[in-house]
Amino acid sequence: MSDITTNFDDKTIEYEQLLEDFKKLLKENSLKFTIQREVILETLYNSDEHLTPESLHHLIQEKFPDLKTGIATIYRTLSLLEDSQMVTSLSFGAQGKKYELGAKEHHDHMICTECGNITEFVDEEIEKRQDAIAQTLGFKISDHSMQIYGTCKKCLN
Ligand SMILES: [Zn+2]
Ligand SMILES: [Zn+2]
Repeated sequence: MSDITTNFDDKTIEYEQLLEDFKKLLKENSLKFTIQREVILETLYNSDEHLTPESLHHLIQEKFPDLKTGIATIYRTLSLLEDSQMVTSLSFGAQGKKYELGAKEHHDHMICTECGNITEFVDEEIEKRQDAIAQTLGFKISDHSMQIYGTCKKCLN
């Protein structure tokens, strides 16, 4: 039997370090470090969910109503973070994308297309097989992401 892990709440990077990386990224792209952008990063960091831009917007509006963080700023910041691989996205077809910070241990995803539920998992056998395949093909892996789409247990019943 293979080992399946399904809990990835521990962070692999300190917030301070992440913030430094973010400031550097903004500078490289000639963008200003603003309180709105910091709040976007912080909210992503403190959420264990995979967030759509709209749900991220909603969270920020609730917590910081005076900041007036526009949805356009959120879209732009997310795509900047994604381009630099600090954030990864999961595609939900017509329903758009959900984002998560790369501040957790590596994991793969099972995504329910009925209710949008996401289960995170790691299977050591799968991880090992991927490494073995890459080695056979003389391929050097820098990263991988796996999304499995289907219907979750709850929606099947
Ligand atoms: Zn479901
Ligand atoms: Zn995830």
